[in-house]
Amino acid sequence: MALSSLLIPIVSLLRQVGDALASNLPAMLELAACFTLVSFVATACNAAPPWWRKPGLLTDICYSLVLPIITSYGSVLLIGLGIVGLYGITDPARITSFFDDGHGPLARLGFWFQVPIYLVGLDLVLYATHRAFHHARLWRYHAIHHASEHLEWISFRRFHPVDQLFHSALGDVVMLMLGISPDVILWLAPFNVGTSALVHANLDWTFGRFGVLFASPVFHRWHHTAADRGGSSNFAATFPVIDLIFGTYYMPKGVLPDGYGVDDKAFPKGFIEQLGYPLWRNPKPDPTTTRLPAQ
Ligand SMILES: [Zn+2]
Ligand SMILES: [Zn+2]
Repeated sequence: MALSSLLIPIVSLLRQVGDALASNLPAMLELAACFTLVSFVATACNAAPPWWRKPGLLTDICYSLVLPIITSYGSVLLIGLGIVGLYGITDPARITSFFDDGHGPLARLGFWFQVPIYLVGLDLVLYATHRAFHHARLWRYHAIHHASEHLEWISFRRFHPVDQLFHSALGDVVMLMLGISPDVILWLAPFNVGTSALVHANLDWTFGRFGVLFASPVFHRWHHTAADRGGSSNFAATFPVIDLIFGTYYMPKGVLPDGYGVDDKAFPKGFIEQLGYPLWRNPKPDPTTTRLPAQ
């Protein structure tokens, strides 16, 4: 094989990776600017250095830049499997139409009907997959998200690729297969990214009486505490009422969460080591599978 024919796909792949990096960077910079401003005016949940001086920042940045690339390629693969496996569509024209018009029982609904259905449906799927990743066999992947001891908004993309694909990205794939238009998913992507970053921020915000409707930083930070505190609760990504319905809601009054991380002193700190962690370590099953939190 001529060297040039070998180089063409490699250059093409590198160009696509570069494009994915470039498209993700503005969002990260906007989030960084927002949370820098907020850190000067709002009260922190825990005494800690500002996010730009947090321990493990480099690892967070690696996840922030690499995970969106893995997600986009992995999602395309999952969507392809769904289109062929569920609907048996292999004709390129029909695949194009699938993305242009949506396909499935919800595709006939208008954009604004699909928006609330997508938000609630996605959160229900994410609740289920999140709980699944707290079970024994999958916990080793999800432990990476929980290993962050210095929780900040920039930790929101700390997910092992397996966790990211079959927990987070799978939610969008399921909704797409049900007929939600890709336009709806793309339109709400900034909201989902912003919400995910916000709930990890070091802020003492509970949203008061609206805290049961929308996930707050305190709500999700409880989820990052030990399993015998709040770590066995608050699985919902956006709507805590789902936890309320399934008996996993935990928001003790007058107390703020603290003490994050997993019960493994040897847990690797670096990005590459963490990617390999599930291969050589099998941490004890998370007790959340058998115990519901005290209310
Ligand atoms: Zn979790
Ligand atoms: Zn989290």
